[in-house]
Amino acid sequence: MARPCALRDNDSVTAEQKERYSRQILLPGFGEAGQERLLAARAAIVGLGALGSFQAIALARAGVGHLVLIDRDYVELVNLQRQWLYEEADAEQALPKAVAAARRLAAVNSEVSLTAHVADLTPENISELLADAQVILDGTDNFETRYLINDYCLCHGVPWLYGAALGTYGLTMPVLPGRTACLKCIYPAPPTGALPTCETVGILNAVTSAIASIQVADAVKILAGQAASLRPRITTLDLWMGETRQIAQPGPHPGCPACSGRQFPHLESASRAPISLCGRNAVQIHERARPLDLAALRERLAPLGEVRANEFALRFVAPPYELVFFPDGRAIVKGTTDTGLARSLYARYVGN
Ligand SMILES: [Zn+2]
Repeated sequence: MARPCALRDNDSVTAEQKERYSRQILLPGFGEAGQERLLAARAAIVGLGALGSFQAIALARAGVGHLVLIDRDYVELVNLQRQWLYEEADAEQALPKAVAAARRLAAVNSEVSLTAHVADLTPENISELLADAQVILDGTDNFETRYLINDYCLCHGVPWLYGAALGTYGLTMPVLPGRTACLKCIYPAPPTGALPTCETVGILNAVTSAIASIQVADAVKILAGQAASLRPRITTLDLWMGETRQIAQPGPHPGCPACSGRQFPHLESASRAPISLCGRNAVQIHERARPLDLAALRERLAPLGEVRANEFALRFVAPPYELVFFPDGRAIVKGTTDTGLARSLYARYVGN
């Protein structure tokens, strides 16, 4: 909805905006200049689960002018315990999270310009999706995407804010290229073997908002032009045990292939294998970059099982599996972690 023409003072923050954001403008070191910067700023949120949905609504309320929302998944009942933006109706309709998020955020702050991408962040699309973002907030649940973000941000000199939460524990750190250690400095290789997930060990909703809050505070500071005074530190929390710890974040590691070597292999991998989703008995197929006509697919699959579709996604139940197809040809196959089986189910219902 278009905003009414508000009377402007001698600067670019309107009288209405001064009122709306007055409690933030009052903060020391923020002021109208900080708000003006925020209103003109662009932030990207990758992953709109528990962390990402809190980040998105907090940044929208703070008045960040442009938000880019990226998520490959759809809303389910099991998300509602901790994914702050979504409601029961979103889960009933299996709305893509990026779509549901944009709807909610537009109602919270109609001044914010929103770009929603129902997509998996990949080496092929990352430059387009994250273009001009001044900060990237990590709301993902997997190292593959985080290494990709890390390579992109180191390559382009864009700050990003790492965050993770599981069980009652969470961890966050800002990555400021050239100034702090990056993800590869801290974790040179991704963890191997079976990892605990939200599905196996659960998650306390409060720890997600606590970690996301720290990411948001750092993002606001960067976007308000105060990055130089941001104190880089690694924060860990266990809200059940009542433990919080912060250690000073080291500088870039001299042996880091990203920081020192300027090598960014994650940006270069032309195609990736299907990957298992965190915390879910599911496989994502994203190797087939060909559009799907969801209306035609709905007609084809209706005799074979339960089909529910909207313009953004089609959900097909063929027990013990459930397949969700997206218009870009991507699919999430639930009920298995076997990538070969997921591929063959895709081929059976969509074709090779
Ligand atoms: Zn590094």
